[in-house]
Parts: sequence; C-alpha cells; structure tokens
Amino acid sequence: MKPNRIFLATAFSAMAATSTITVAQQQFVSIGTGGVTGVYYPTGGAICRLVNQGRKEHGIRCSAESTGGSIYNINTIRSGELEFGVAQSDWQYHAYNGTSKFEDQGKFDNLRAVFSVHPEPVTVIAGDSSNVATLTDVKGKRLNIGNAGSGTRGTWEVIEAALGWERGDLKLATEMKSAETGAALCDNKIDAYFWLVGHPSALTQETLASCDAHLVNVDGPEIDKLVADNSFYRKATIPAGMYNNAEDISTFGVGATFVSSADVPAEVVYVVVKAVFENIDGFRKLHPAFAHLKEEEMIKDGLSAPLHDGAVKYYKERGWM
Ligand code: GLU
Repeated sequence: MKPNRIFLATAFSAMAATSTITVAQQQFVSIGTGGVTGVYYPTGGAICRLVNQGRKEHGIRCSAESTGGSIYNINTIRSGELEFGVAQSDWQYHAYNGTSKFEDQGKFDNLRAVFSVHPEPVTVIAGDSSNVATLTDVKGKRLNIGNAGSGTRGTWEVIEAALGWERGDLKLATEMKSAETGAALCDNKIDAYFWLVGHPSALTQETLASCDAHLVNVDGPEIDKLVADNSFYRKATIPAGMYNNAEDISTFGVGATFVSSADVPAEVVYVVVKAVFENIDGFRKLHPAFAHLKEEEMIKDGLSAPLHDGAVKYYKERGWM
C-alpha cells in the first residue's frame, strides 16, 4: 500500500540521511488518470509536472498513471494503491455516499475532494453512415459503452436505465477502452462511441478528423429528468466550431474532479494543491480544456466528498475559505 510505502521510505531514509530534504526526497505519489488520448491523463501529467518542479524543496515525486478511469481510480485510492486520482463528479458523489454502483461496497468515508478541473459533457461520436442524429437513435446500433471501471461506463448504465433500455436494445455493446474507440469507429466496427470527456480532447479531435463522423445531441425528456433529479448533472454545450460541428451540441455532463483519501497525509496534499494554485496560469496553459478554469469554482464545484485537510489549509491561507 502506498501510504505505507511513503511511511517506510521516509522512516528508512530518516535512519540513513542527515538532512530533512533527503528524507522528503523519498516520497512518491501516484495519480490515477484514464486512457492516454483522454484529458485525465494529461491532467495527471500537468499536476505532476508542477509538483515535480518543486521537488528539491518539498521532496515529493509525482507520477501519473494511465488507468481504466474514474471508478477504477476511486477503488484504487480506497485500497491504498494510489494517493490521488481524477474522477467524474457523479462517481465521487456515489462513492462517498455509498449509492448506485458503490452500494455493495458501502460508503467510502475516507474519500476526500481536492479540487475540480474541467467540465465533462456526455459526448457521442457517430459515423455519418450510421444514421444517428440524436442519442436515442443508437437503439439497435453498435455502440461502445466504455470499459469496466471507467466513469463513462458507469454513466452509460445510468442513461440506459433512464431511457428504460436494456443491454439488448443495442445491436452490439462493445467495452473497449477509450483509446481504442476512434479506430474502431473509423474501421466501421461500431456505429458510435460514447464517453464523458473534457474538450477539446485528442481522441475526439482525431476521430472527427480521420473519418466521416459527427457529434450527436444528447437531450430529450428522460435526460431533462436525470438532470433535474441529480445535483451532480448539469446541462452542457459543446460549442459550435469546437470540432467539425457547425452548431452547438446540446448535452449534459459532470465535472472532472481531483480526489484523494484521508489516509494521505495533509502535508502531501498541501504540497500538491499549492503547486497547482501557485502556478495556475501555467496550469491553464498545459491543456486547452483548462483554459477557462477559475480558482473560485475549482475549490467547490462538483465536490461532494469533504475537502482534504491539506487542501483546506492551503485554501484558508489564500483567504478563499
Ligand atoms: N471521464 C472518463 C472516465 O472516467 C475519462 C475521460 C478522460 O480520460 O479524459 O471514464
């Protein structure tokens, strides 16, 4: 378990080393992200880059790992194998409250919010030959519903239930990881793929540029009800011109959030949060999906688990709380 690893590494070097800097240099933290062509992976990379810039002073070495996505990240933080992760705000909510997919495991009491990042609209990309103009047109078609462990997959299951569909209502439900879906669509192995992701994202961009495909509206009375009934969903728009779309795409979505565990020491979380917020202008430039991030929103939007003590300490120092 990583918290133990931190402890052991620190204890070991405390015996061997003379300076506190050397002691601290033995601390490693890992951030669970998503597929390499998504936005979570560069999010973890951006956070680590800023943390690692100050490594000489604070001694924490940060690395971002490509993973299956939100639900995998939350579960792996829970088991102590990851210190941090990026996760959709809907799954942060359910994990903390022990609801939906987390009902069997029960409440993850020690889940802690750190800050929120970019918005993640539900994004459906369909091949032009598939005759899919709106979400409900995917009925009877071949759709990638996301790999197990992704937030995408979890949210597909929620949408499916909201529409009153069963899995058999799709002709084929594939479970590829996000990084594989663009090629599958362009090779006509599927009619559409679905994911929750920030924009612009490399994979969405690449798919729409590589074959005849388009974005699809995700709206209608069932979606309106889902948004009205759940505080973690909100209406969203993918603006005209973001990709090959001449018009705004209307959909709904969640927020990407950065989470941790109460088992991760406050000093470690403080260092990570400080590295990001002291360099927020630089952070915004590290991915185009971060361009419009605002500090006052990042410290509260989409955060349903309690804030980590280390984050609270920094936000109080800045006078934000
Ligand atoms: N929201 C997606 C998920 O949790 C990941 C999106 C990304 O990789 O940027 O499955």
